[in-house]
Amino acid sequence: MYNSPLGDLRRSIDEITSYQELALSKMVKLIAQNHPHYSKKFRELGIEISDISTLAALESLPITEKSELVLNPDNFRLKPAAGAEDEYVIWDIVYSAGTSSSPTPIYQTSYDFRGILLAQIRMAEIRGMDNRSRIMNLYPITTHPHGAWLRANNAAAALGASITAGMSGRDFGSFELTRKSAEIVNLTVDTNPTVLWGVPSYIREVLSKVASSGKKLPELNMIAVSGEPCTSAMRKSLTELAESVSNTAVKVSDSLGASELQCGLVECEFGSGFHNPAPELFFLEALDQNGRRVAEGEIGSLAITHLDRRGTVLLRYLLGDKVQITYKNCEDCGRGGGRIVAHKGREGRFTKIRGNLVNLDELLRVLAENTSILEFQIEIHKQSKTDSLSLDELTIRIVPGPSCNTSDIADQVSKAIKIKPVVVVVSREEIWVNENSLKATRIIDSRDYS
Ligand SMILES: [Zn+2]
Repeated sequence: MYNSPLGDLRRSIDEITSYQELALSKMVKLIAQNHPHYSKKFRELGIEISDISTLAALESLPITEKSELVLNPDNFRLKPAAGAEDEYVIWDIVYSAGTSSSPTPIYQTSYDFRGILLAQIRMAEIRGMDNRSRIMNLYPITTHPHGAWLRANNAAAALGASITAGMSGRDFGSFELTRKSAEIVNLTVDTNPTVLWGVPSYIREVLSKVASSGKKLPELNMIAVSGEPCTSAMRKSLTELAESVSNTAVKVSDSLGASELQCGLVECEFGSGFHNPAPELFFLEALDQNGRRVAEGEIGSLAITHLDRRGTVLLRYLLGDKVQITYKNCEDCGRGGGRIVAHKGREGRFTKIRGNLVNLDELLRVLAENTSILEFQIEIHKQSKTDSLSLDELTIRIVPGPSCNTSDIADQVSKAIKIKPVVVVVSREEIWVNENSLKATRIIDSRDYS
């Protein structure tokens, strides 16, 4: 159904590396001629990029920081090469759903879109979806196009599988097209899906409503998630809920997605690591502070290099994740191409609250793993809105489940981060107000820094 020089990735490391090096040597020639940002940067640094032809030599190039892309995203687009204009037609633009105030556009050309379809087919193959899958796309419609909703639909097209989109999200303008929560739950039941695909906390909410209404999803066998960390508590909760409404075992298939990839790294089996589904298109590295590759299996900063792209092209681009990578073939499925065997969180999410350095990732983890909470949001603000010199306050807004006790949450948080929070009960809509983004806004820092 598809053809690629690397087949289904059950190839030796040497075969995959030599294919990646062939792709890299073509990619750098295009970059040297037609990439506004890198051609200028490397000229200034005196680096002859078109000479790079091995993955070892790639290590000599400086890393690319997210801030460089955010500053001028258009400078990261290749200019069309003469005679190959068709490859450079803009197919779509997505916006990275980061925490920055201005979402960053990532450009896909008609050439890149074909690559994305290949990556999506491989993802499906690795996680165990096929053309018999009936997929419920539970990602929201966002104001800025996001890869999650789009690519789930594209994946179904490429697989020959059927898909229904839940169409959650917020309407604007004069178009009322999104569905309300109850409609989405009914639609999910009516279409009898085998796969629910979306953000874990939202899928949990839909499943809870299906279960509490006494309805069934009898053939559900997979929950495919990305967009938020799927903690062990979340995985357990999703599995229990799903199996309570299905007649079969349900697999939770986690994925590490990135707007810069337009696909996700996926597990073949739980615990097998996040496989690069398309080593023809991306090379993954784990780097130390100096941009050198760490020894295989050690923790480093995840960087991606595009090997065969025409729109936005990035070299050694830091995604902001701490990871351990192996290039060995997977013990479970035999596939090679690079796997993230452990994800060690995001980088640099610390802030000071009342003078104390607080690890926001730890705070998020504590809340995400508390199964009595359905949704949460953290706000760091001044005690008095009119007095910018008043004390910092940490407010945690929660949508409680039936067994939730707010004073327990305050105790749990103050034990974890040594700051006593104010816990406030809110509705889900109060947390999911920012429909620009795929995810709920988890952290708001509204202190005045001016
Ligand atoms: Zn595997």
